Amino acid sequence: DNVLIDVKDVKKYFPIKGGILKRTIGHVKAVDGITLHISKGETLGIVGESGSGKSTLGRVMLRLLNPTEGKIIFNGTDLSKLRQREIRPHRRHMQMVFQDPFGSLNSKMSISELIEEPLRVQTKLSHAERKKKVLSMMEKVGFQKEDLQKYPHEFSGGQRQRISIARALIVEPEFVICDEPVSALDVSIQAQILNLMKDLQDELGLTYLFIAHDLSVVKHISDRVAVMYLGRIVEIADKKDLYEQPLHPYTKALLSSIPTVKTNGNPTKKQKIKLSGDLPSPSNPPSGCAFRTRCPFAYSKCSTERPELTRMQGNHQVACHLYTSEE
Ligand code: SF4
Ligand code: MG
Repeated sequence: DNVLIDVKDVKKYFPIKGGILKRTIGHVKAVDGITLHISKGETLGIVGESGSGKSTLGRVMLRLLNPTEGKIIFNGTDLSKLRQREIRPHRRHMQMVFQDPFGSLNSKMSISELIEEPLRVQTKLSHAERKKKVLSMMEKVGFQKEDLQKYPHEFSGGQRQRISIARALIVEPEFVICDEPVSALDVSIQAQILNLMKDLQDELGLTYLFIAHDLSVVKHISDRVAVMYLGRIVEIADKKDLYEQPLHPYTKALLSSIPTVKTNGNPTKKQKIKLSGDLPSPSNPPSGCAFRTRCPFAYSKCSTERPELTRMQGNHQVACHLYTSEE
């Protein structure tokens, strides 16, 4: 149908080297069997604590990292099978906006040069065509003509993130992975950047994967939301279902930490769950359900059997024995 990117059982394992021979003594299973799709024009939010594998998943989806296993089908082409040289023509259709707009911009380049650079590298447009596009993109992200010859240090964090967004969008990608693009910004600036990204999506027909560590950040921009824990999706649903009828204890815990506005006569009483303890090491995850060391509902089956992602109602899927158990 309308699927732009289809991820099938993708794994990314990083070897752990040890001993004097620096042999592989184990693996960090950063991404451990992820299946998802994103439709054209849709935004899928991905939420998880740092160490959950969400950034690694993003990099594997763009083939900035090679998957250990699995398929990444973008517009009908399986990227996981391509050599680096064969990926190049697909690159400009898939861009990434990173968290840190400070580290990712060359301070010796003016804003117009920074925004023009991806066009020079990735297209064959003439100088005049490039200049025209740069001007129009600068306006789209909220800069004035006078700003063209300024340098990154003359701008605030929010403005630098606008430059990064312009650099990602200038090559007219179809798919953009936004890796915590507002996490480093003041709360007051976050909403501006999120609104800008939403407007640009509508105007340019973009498809987003939006990565965040906090469910409140992805709430407004996402159509569907996936929650990751130690390399796996534990719950994925349409936004409304995930926020109003969360099923997985981890999702409930993440939602419990968001201050909620009182809604009169809301029939769904929200159960507050406090998240205790730290994320276990991804190199040595608990047996069975990886969340069991922090789950208030864990029972015997949780330590012996890994719950698989199971479809409940409609698009709502959850990986938890509370919903799959026959007992
Ligand atoms: Fe908790 Fe068990 Fe469900 Fe895991 S499978 S989330 S430990 S109840
Ligand atoms: Mg990250």
